[in-house]
Amino acid sequence: MNGPARSFDVVIVGGGHGGAQAALALRQHGFEGTVVIVGREPELPYERPPLSKEYLAREKPFERLLLRPAAMWAEKKVDLLLGQTVTSIDAHARTVALDDGTRISYAHLIWAAGGDARRLECGGSDLAGVHAVRTRADVDQLMRELDAGARRAVVIGGGYIGLEAAAVLTKLGVEVTLLEALPRVLARVAGEELSAFYEAEHRAHGVDLRTGIAVECIEGAVTVTGVRLADGTVLPADMVIVGIGIVPAVAPLIAAGAPVHNGVEVDSFCRTSLPAIYAIGDCAAHANAFADGAVIRLESVQNANDMATTAAKAICGMPAPYAATPWFWSNQYDLKLQTVGLSVGHDQTVLRGAPARRSFSVIYLKGGRVIALDCVNAVKDYVQGRKLVETRSAPDVAKLADPAAPLKDLISP
Ligand SMILES: Cc1cc2nc3c(=O)[nH]c(=O)nc-3n(C[C@H](O)[C@H](O)[C@H](O)COP(=O)(O)OP(=O)(O)OC[C@H]3O[C@@H](n4cnc5c(N)ncnc54)[C@H](O)[C@@H]3O)c2cc1C
Repeated sequence: MNGPARSFDVVIVGGGHGGAQAALALRQHGFEGTVVIVGREPELPYERPPLSKEYLAREKPFERLLLRPAAMWAEKKVDLLLGQTVTSIDAHARTVALDDGTRISYAHLIWAAGGDARRLECGGSDLAGVHAVRTRADVDQLMRELDAGARRAVVIGGGYIGLEAAAVLTKLGVEVTLLEALPRVLARVAGEELSAFYEAEHRAHGVDLRTGIAVECIEGAVTVTGVRLADGTVLPADMVIVGIGIVPAVAPLIAAGAPVHNGVEVDSFCRTSLPAIYAIGDCAAHANAFADGAVIRLESVQNANDMATTAAKAICGMPAPYAATPWFWSNQYDLKLQTVGLSVGHDQTVLRGAPARRSFSVIYLKGGRVIALDCVNAVKDYVQGRKLVETRSAPDVAKLADPAAPLKDLISP
């Protein structure tokens, strides 16, 4: 085998939110060694959330999605090896191999490879016209098909990405059917009130939204023509959008011996069990204080950025455990949802404000303490509610439900 062609103090695998922020945070905290980002996508690091929002809606050109202008990476002395994939890791020799055969040695490795869109496991899932919404390339292909006249879309999956795509496509005049396998949309991330609200909104905007639906297969010869449901119904479709989650991109870490269970396991400093290898972002399973210490993966920009900073600080010799407050957002139609905390495990919800007025919050409690808020067009609740989550306050429920009672007055130690 050839010796390493190049050597870097820090090799970052993945040029998404986590990888980009890791490089920036290293510099911010005074790291003067050499840093390279190896990224499979050909583009400079860019924001992923607009892919199912403003970019798909053509309200933002790609250039405005770039996390930093091209010149800044050179300025910060961050090398970029784009359009290249890390295929294996030799944790003992501290080298990685790229798909073109190059080997790179590292002193520290930050694995920030995110995840790949989960594919349908039924017939027809690889037909032309079946799309994920994970990368710019995915969305560009989808937009080309819209330009070529696709007018009927079936969206499979009622999570945030599926719902956002449905909202944009509807706005663009596409006839949309959305299929969710579970009895309600957003079932894994939100309470029933929020699910019911979004289901009603989508239906009011003309989406044919169906829950509790099992897909049998995708129909078509070369290109998709429809979606066959388990009950035999065939929904005609020019395109199918699949939003059923991700599979963490961790194969080289598994091969190198890292324990992986729904993501690669990391400690509170984002260290894997392999020497000098960190993992951050969507692919990293960590014990999260906001989930009562349960080992979870979070798929959010906040988590990717904050884990990146945690790993960078550890490498810079100023370790601080990951303890960031989870937050998230989603835009659908004119509805801005902002979430703080993690609602998983709640045993009570309080509705604050009126969904009919399209400005309200759902507050999640566990054992009487606030653990999360979903705020729809309710920025004040989001800003003030954050402290309730961080302090695990146990406020009077009647006051929580009263929009006239500011949340900041309900904080209790
Ligand atoms: C359409 C969409 C909308 C979203 N909306 C929101 C939102 O509104 N709010 C929010 O908080 N979050 C949102 N998210 C989630 C958020 O974008 C992710 O949580 C975040 O991008 C995770 O960052 P990451 O660095 O872990 O992974 P990614 O950003 O996915 O970056 C990983 C990169 O690594 C590359 N890679 C993978 N394997 C290799 C390899 N072996 N070698 C080299 N490179 C590799 C990938 O190609 C990718 O470019 C959205 C995601 C999508 C797809």
